[in-house]
Amino acid sequence: MSNFFNTKIEFLKGVGPQKAALLNKELNIFTYGDLIQHYPFRHEDRTKIYTISEINESMSFVQIKGQIYQFETLGEGFKSRLVAYFTDGDEEMELVWFQNTTWIAKNLKKNTDYLIFGKPQFFNGKISIPHPEMELFETDQPATGFLQPVYNITEKLRKKFVDSKAISKMIRQVLDLATNHVKETLSDELIIQYRLMSKREALENIHFPGSYQLLEQAKYRLKFEELFYTQLKLIKTKFIRKTAYRGQIFKNVPTLTTFYNEHLSFDLTNAQKRVIKEIYRDFCSGKQMNRLLQGDVGSGKTIVAFICMLMALDNRAQACLMAPTEILAEQHYFGLKEYADVLGITIDKLTGSSSQGSRKVTHEYLQSGDIKIIIGTHALLEDKVQFHNLGLCIIDEQHRFGVAQRAKLWSKNEDVYPHILVMTATPIPRTLAMTLYGDLDVSVIDELPAGRKPIRTVHRYDAHRLRVFGFLREQIQQGRQVYIVYPLIEESEKMELKDLMDGYESVARAFPEYQISIVHGKMKPKDKDYEMQRFVRNETQIMVATTVIEVGVNVPNASVMVVENAERFGLAQLHQLRGRVGRGADQSYCILMTDYKITREGRARIETLVNTNNGFEIADMDLKLRGPGDLSGTQQSGVLDLLIADLAKDGPILQQAREAAQAVLESDEELALPKHYVIRQHIESLKKDETNWSRIS
Ligand code: ADP
Ligand code: MG
Repeated sequence: MSNFFNTKIEFLKGVGPQKAALLNKELNIFTYGDLIQHYPFRHEDRTKIYTISEINESMSFVQIKGQIYQFETLGEGFKSRLVAYFTDGDEEMELVWFQNTTWIAKNLKKNTDYLIFGKPQFFNGKISIPHPEMELFETDQPATGFLQPVYNITEKLRKKFVDSKAISKMIRQVLDLATNHVKETLSDELIIQYRLMSKREALENIHFPGSYQLLEQAKYRLKFEELFYTQLKLIKTKFIRKTAYRGQIFKNVPTLTTFYNEHLSFDLTNAQKRVIKEIYRDFCSGKQMNRLLQGDVGSGKTIVAFICMLMALDNRAQACLMAPTEILAEQHYFGLKEYADVLGITIDKLTGSSSQGSRKVTHEYLQSGDIKIIIGTHALLEDKVQFHNLGLCIIDEQHRFGVAQRAKLWSKNEDVYPHILVMTATPIPRTLAMTLYGDLDVSVIDELPAGRKPIRTVHRYDAHRLRVFGFLREQIQQGRQVYIVYPLIEESEKMELKDLMDGYESVARAFPEYQISIVHGKMKPKDKDYEMQRFVRNETQIMVATTVIEVGVNVPNASVMVVENAERFGLAQLHQLRGRVGRGADQSYCILMTDYKITREGRARIETLVNTNNGFEIADMDLKLRGPGDLSGTQQSGVLDLLIADLAKDGPILQQAREAAQAVLESDEELALPKHYVIRQHIESLKKDETNWSRIS
């Protein structure tokens, strides 16, 4: 935006240095531009005035005309409050204040018409409105537009009388001053093609809409713009990589052919074959690959990873596989070692708990190239870890690693950047994938291996635990194994560890005839591993654990997953947990245990899980229930700092914005054409904003 929008907020009439400092601190508003981009989170229809008798519990806000006939201060000290008895002529209700009570009592007039506005509450049949907005009622009140903006503010601002209304007044002022300064930020071509409102109209109508329809158009325009520029950046990154970075060519496949023909004990699914072809095509292209491999739990990503590694090895390069936890790294290591051994390939592991001595040896052999495949955790990222010729990095369960860590792997081979394959089992909704991984090519395994029976999922209440235990016994008698998982959100919380221990004891009491393993985050990796291995070898029949087993653990003989306090888990997490069973040929079950009392949202999550096994449906639901900010791993990404677009709801707009960005770059990668001048210029100003920010923070 032009200089006008960089004007400091304190220069606005009625603001001044003190309020400006408060706005800086509380809302990150520094300039006119920031203020104008403080969009309202909703609008209120203030044309309707209700009577008190019309108020009911379903109303979130009401506007009433009436008079205060008496004040009273109730309670003492911290708990004191001011109550005003308010009537509309027929009925009465209470207005209540907990703060600024002296000022309010002094300034509000009795027996005078007010228009009040607020959220009604019901208590013992009485209606009250805490901290209502009040204004004197004037019959000839000028119409201020019937859709009034409501802005986010903080408690501190409210105390200084900078409420939503005050913000709205400031914005009105800026908008009036801005008339000649608002520049269009999208090209004519896009505006025509997508029938967008102009920037100026959009800014006016997002705050002070002339009608519902204009409000919708303004929102659409601003969301489109926001998503367009984020997508443009991501797609541009992708373009640059595709043209700029060389990649090693992995054309030869002798070992892979041997492995495929002689050692692979099952047929690959068509989806696995397709994905392998896509990756092989990348490997032959001479360019660095940056690919995301999405596949639901149990879809068989590990074998795809191994096959890709063989391609690298067959062309004299090394490969690494990085997992988010030690358990998972170990499991990958032992799983792949079987294959590697028959093929005579040296494979090693490197994790936080590898001893100093063994680390040193591993480092040496990686550098000399004697170790071909290395499996590990974050430990692989350390600078000390150097390769002879690293050709392929595979990252499992990407959502736990940051984007920066992805980049760090690149530097392990400065001559030719290694190919990068990111595997994720947490199905990500398409909209989120486009935003988080918009710079990656995407391959999807959308098919489970043949013969898998869908897992049956049920919801049971704690009161029915005996029956559930009876069912577990039947399953174990048939030779199956069982997981029982307890929530442990913060591994430091003692309470929850106690839950786990209590649970373990009651399970031990109920199943004296069976062996039980226990695994939790507080254990030493060595002990965890020991317990895991006992379960893997079927020496124990029941595994009592916290969510440390969430990711990737593979015991095909386990057929029942019991989740205790299931309402406390997120959807994606429950889906991950459920994915630990259903890996063999037997019918598998997931039993979600809860108390009778659960929140509506908790119930919605459990119902979703009972109703579907489809990871993508679950991911979409998750996004709807929680919003994108909460989804694991997205916080640190930075790409989700959206001002107005909402990834949970704006999928279709995102799709359009992405297509538009793609088309613009395909026709004119450097944005050199005159018609793209507007876009180029706006990118420049966005960049400037970014530098401003980094200076401030
Ligand atoms: P995920 O995609 O969740 O990482 P895994 O790679 O752990 O899944 O595979 C789950 C199980 O399915 C493993 O036991 C694996 O050996 C097996 N598997 C993988 N692909 C196939 C296939 N095409 N046919 C049969 N079993 C398969
Ligand atoms: Mg896996």
